[in-house]
Amino acid sequence: MRYAELYERSVTDPQSYWAEQAQLIDWHAPFSQVLDASRPPFAKWFVGGQTNLCHNAIDRWLETQGDLPALIAVSTETADAAPAEKIYSFRELHAEVQRSAAIMLSLGVTRGDRVLIYMPMIAEATIAMLACARIGAIHSVVFGGFAANSLATRIDDARPKLVVSADAGSRNGKAIPYKPLLDDAIRLAKHQPRHVLLVDRGLAPMTLVQGRDLDYASLREQHLDAQVPVTWLESNEISYILYTSGTTGIPKGVQRDVGGYAVALASSMQTIFCGKPGEVYFSTSDIGWVVGHSYIVYGPLIAGMATIMYEGLPVRPDAGIWWSMVEKYRVTRMFSAPTAVRVLKKQAPEFMKKYDLSSLKALYLAGEPLDETTSQWISSALGVPVIDNYWQTESGWPILSIARGTDDSPTRLGSPGVPMPGYKVRVIDESTGDTCAANRKGVVVIDWPLPPGCMQTVYGDDARYVDTYWSRFGGQQVYSTFDWGIRDEDGYYFILGRTDDVINVAGHRLGTREIEESISSHPNVSEVAVVGVEDKLKGQVAVAFVVPRNADAVATPQARQAFEAEVMGVVDRQLGTVARPARVHCIGLLPKTRSGKLLRRAIQAICEGRDAGDLTTIEDPASLQQIRAALAG
Ligand code: AMP
Repeated sequence: MRYAELYERSVTDPQSYWAEQAQLIDWHAPFSQVLDASRPPFAKWFVGGQTNLCHNAIDRWLETQGDLPALIAVSTETADAAPAEKIYSFRELHAEVQRSAAIMLSLGVTRGDRVLIYMPMIAEATIAMLACARIGAIHSVVFGGFAANSLATRIDDARPKLVVSADAGSRNGKAIPYKPLLDDAIRLAKHQPRHVLLVDRGLAPMTLVQGRDLDYASLREQHLDAQVPVTWLESNEISYILYTSGTTGIPKGVQRDVGGYAVALASSMQTIFCGKPGEVYFSTSDIGWVVGHSYIVYGPLIAGMATIMYEGLPVRPDAGIWWSMVEKYRVTRMFSAPTAVRVLKKQAPEFMKKYDLSSLKALYLAGEPLDETTSQWISSALGVPVIDNYWQTESGWPILSIARGTDDSPTRLGSPGVPMPGYKVRVIDESTGDTCAANRKGVVVIDWPLPPGCMQTVYGDDARYVDTYWSRFGGQQVYSTFDWGIRDEDGYYFILGRTDDVINVAGHRLGTREIEESISSHPNVSEVAVVGVEDKLKGQVAVAFVVPRNADAVATPQARQAFEAEVMGVVDRQLGTVARPARVHCIGLLPKTRSGKLLRRAIQAICEGRDAGDLTTIEDPASLQQIRAALAG
């Protein structure tokens, strides 16, 4: 079927479209209702149906391809010479996940309990996620680059019974201890997990807390023959919580269901990613992000593909490492982010010619705007189509892309494409709520109901879900993506940046408020503003402007430099290096309106060398001069 027809059907007759897509997965008990639309803006998909993500990812494939690879874990961090590799067939993964599930059960984790996973990119992380899914426990994976305070906030919100972690991650060949950060986080948190299960990689020493901390390897030995049957879950039970940044300093727990998510992923693997059982999928993301959840772990496995989990940099030991894996494992579909491609672009292009990349059919890029130069460079270097796709932690799978599995609709440079099945996307005028004419800028919104796979709610806070996402345009039931965009006359969308205070650094979403709160805890910080500033490599970087309490303490260039390093250290310790600002400037005054509102957009404009815009409400124009002077100095 052609894209246009398929899309039309998905939005005019969603019930029949999704009932049909639901046949792509296994159901233990059929659903009685495709969509329960009785409580907008909430939506329940496949009501009454019983299924399980782990069953669909593993058990379902045992009979037909039990001995084919399922999980290929590669690390260039822990091996000096050749990359370390561990391949699990579907059968081996099945056994390993049951061991992990048996350990969790033995620690009292049951259906509906939360398990927080704070892990580097090692096989045990994926195994723990699948083990949770198997027994109906709710996982919440926290990206390894986050530090104690970020972790503590998430522990308090998710209230996990168990935390699964490791002694250390590794970056650029250097161990990054996780355990001390985790200990600090648990100390800071009000909620105390009953147990911490630790994978000891032998990278960093660990001090175990008696009675709480347990060694994974020893417990695994006790459960080698474990047989843990799948727990069948009603489609709308919770599969996971994944925290993401928003306008406030408190991250939101994006909550996802079981059945809708499984169907959406299975459907997207056909319509967008064209994955076939027995093929190999390689996503360079991290399991701490939504791409990792959907397209490292669940999506490829649900489609019967092997998935590669890679721990390491794209340029170590050299810029050919990804392509050597494409050759070795005969990867057919690859998923990455524009920043990673820009990093590779700085390296010599011969690495792409060195390897046999004939298995590769397409490269998918997402997470941040894809500039035309990067897109054209990588597409001609690889000789395969590059498919931009736009989505969010909240949506769980692409909102805009090109449905390669339907027809060969052309891509359009600079555009992530057209709406994917079930997404009723529009661009609306922020003040009137009216749909914008073609090529007019507005807010990208989606009409209710969101298709299967999208967030159910904010974990534990339905009101926050409704207020944040659905109440922005005078009662109109539209979901706001918080992105500006335009739709051209042919229906292609262009994304023009966030409408809120969220910034996007190398495809990682960060809340400027969170960073500001962290910086404020430095004793010599009186006020701070953090803005996202355009960056050639990373898309955006965070830049902080600080008003010190004691200006004399930062009077000399040396003192300012030391202060900048200290502030960065505070962010590293509290939030993690991922949130560290690229620069910290000292100024005497922040630009604000007369009512005291920070003029973030004006600061950002000055940083990017643009006009500062309408400044009629500014309290003291001299503050802008201070920003300019700080940047010049
Ligand atoms: P996250 O929830 O971390 O995946 O971040 C989602 C945000 O990243 C979106 O709201 C956009 O601002 C941005 N984003 C994701 N994919 C794209 C894309 N293909 N083009 C432009 N921006 C994107």
